[in-house]
Amino acid sequence: MDKEKDKPKKIWKTLINIILTLLIIALLVLTIYFLYKSQREKNSEENTLSYTELVKQVNDGNVEKIEMTVGSTTLKVKLKDVEKEKTAIIPSTQVFMELVQQKTLEGNAINLIQKPQSMFAVLPSYLISILPTIIMVALFIMIFKMQGLGDKGEVYDDTERKSKITFDDIAGLDEEKEELKEIVEFLKRPKKFTEMGAKIPKGVLLYGKPGTGKTLIAKAIAGEADVPFISMSGSEFIEMFAGLGASRVRKLFDKARRLSPCIVFIDEIDAIGARRSSNSGAETENNQTLNQLLVEMDGFSSEETIIVLAATNRPEMLDKALLRPGRFDRQVTIPVPDLTGREAILKIHAKDKKLAEDVTLAGIAEDTAGFTGAELANILNEAAIIATKKEHEAITNSDLDEAVKKVTVGIEKTSRKISEKDKKLTAYHEAGHAIVSQFLPTQTAVKEVSIIPRGMAGGYTMYKSDEDKYYISKTEMQEKLIALLGGRAAEKLILDDISTGASNDIEVATQIAKDMITVYGMSDVIGPISLKDNSGQLEYQMFGDNMQDAIGKEVKKLIDIAYNDAQEILKQHIDTLHAIAAELMTKEKINEEQFNKFFA
Ligand code: ATP
Repeated sequence: MDKEKDKPKKIWKTLINIILTLLIIALLVLTIYFLYKSQREKNSEENTLSYTELVKQVNDGNVEKIEMTVGSTTLKVKLKDVEKEKTAIIPSTQVFMELVQQKTLEGNAINLIQKPQSMFAVLPSYLISILPTIIMVALFIMIFKMQGLGDKGEVYDDTERKSKITFDDIAGLDEEKEELKEIVEFLKRPKKFTEMGAKIPKGVLLYGKPGTGKTLIAKAIAGEADVPFISMSGSEFIEMFAGLGASRVRKLFDKARRLSPCIVFIDEIDAIGARRSSNSGAETENNQTLNQLLVEMDGFSSEETIIVLAATNRPEMLDKALLRPGRFDRQVTIPVPDLTGREAILKIHAKDKKLAEDVTLAGIAEDTAGFTGAELANILNEAAIIATKKEHEAITNSDLDEAVKKVTVGIEKTSRKISEKDKKLTAYHEAGHAIVSQFLPTQTAVKEVSIIPRGMAGGYTMYKSDEDKYYISKTEMQEKLIALLGGRAAEKLILDDISTGASNDIEVATQIAKDMITVYGMSDVIGPISLKDNSGQLEYQMFGDNMQDAIGKEVKKLIDIAYNDAQEILKQHIDTLHAIAAELMTKEKINEEQFNKFFA
């Protein structure tokens, strides 16, 4: 039924495409014709008679016959002793006809053959006269098309196809799948619920970091229920022109009503669903769009089984009105996968890849704590590219390791020339990080230390991945600061100078220290107070004039202590520091086993 309704739009679209194609072909033909014509005219210059020459030839009695097309100023002239016909250009037909009359009166009539105008002869001039119109029409159609026939109707066409993705395509997320199975039931058998007097939920909000599989889950729900999946991204509703966003929401839901039962998926809902505040400019437009969305969701009747799934990674930004019962009253958090989840995701994405026998996906899962499903899928893809480039028969463990490094630190830049001085600096810097971490109980073991540049980094120290943790303790954060400042501490101790190489470490360390004080309430002086508002801005004014100073002092204290501790650890193990730096300078890269030998 819905397909039927969309038919006129499709026919209209096809028609426009045909007209556009025809116009383009016409323009092309015209261009080619004129090019050809001018070329021919050039070639035939030697075969042309001027009017004076023609009159002379006529007077001399050399002309055998003249052919003239009505209305044309170009004549075909056959001279008596010349094989080839010549072309003569006359000033006007009237002037020529006077000559003809005069010769007839003189008794030397010209053998003139008059031909009617041919269709092909007039076509070019006719086409030229309508060329501007053609161009105007083509431009009009193009502008019309660019505006998407006045709306973005076609955007939905691609997405209304039924999704073939099912829950089997989603690895991990078992509890979440279980929770969402209910939605599949609602879509499949709405009557069962309504007869019992239950109201079908209208909206489900999926919270989670980018790449955790929110879109995948929404598609899988549609796939499992075998209903159409209509999707749009919140950012597509944001328009420069007032009212367009709201009209798009209306159209999206009109379409959903026609396709019901169905799933409407709105990605990045925070783009339209952000808290309504001021009434100025873009803000008003946003508010209109959000209001329209609320109106549409309130307007579903119980016969229309439309479930709106929306995704966001910034739940705190959303307008509270969206979360009221009858709107997005269900919220499901899609977490970053844990160890088993990561292995399962890797397995799903490895299905269509050629893996070597020795590949252990569990090992890769261990090394990728904190990675999202999208990042894991990307690692397998990168590994396949690396294996192809290296002409391996199948993807090996080393290809996968390389892919993890490529995704986390960037590509190894072996060809970059590095001065001995920089090499030494990097070697001590990285050895500093590695040794300091080795003596910090909460930090994970060193996996690899390298002074070969990768991505933006001049060198790197890779640590073994943490087990999945939900909480991080204060001690762990303090020790993280020490490890981060280990590089700078080594530079200071050994080279008696410091470099720009530590800028990123310092940035990260400062951010951690700030969060410890202002977000996690880890300072005894300040106490367990959150000093950031919902948008992440520091908000200390209400605590009096001294608060700003106190925050600054506490952050600085954390950093100073960590920097000092890092130097202390390195002073105690200065011989190891020299030895590891020397090893790095010769080998450029050392692995876990080689590193551990220094501490045996
Ligand atoms: P965004 O917020 O950026 O839109 P998202 O959370 O919607 O991201 P998806 O687009 O669903 O993420 O995921 C991207 C890709 O990552 C999927 O197409 C899929 O290949 C892979 N992926 C993510 N999570 C999983 C999972 N649990 N199982 C299998 N594949 C997954």
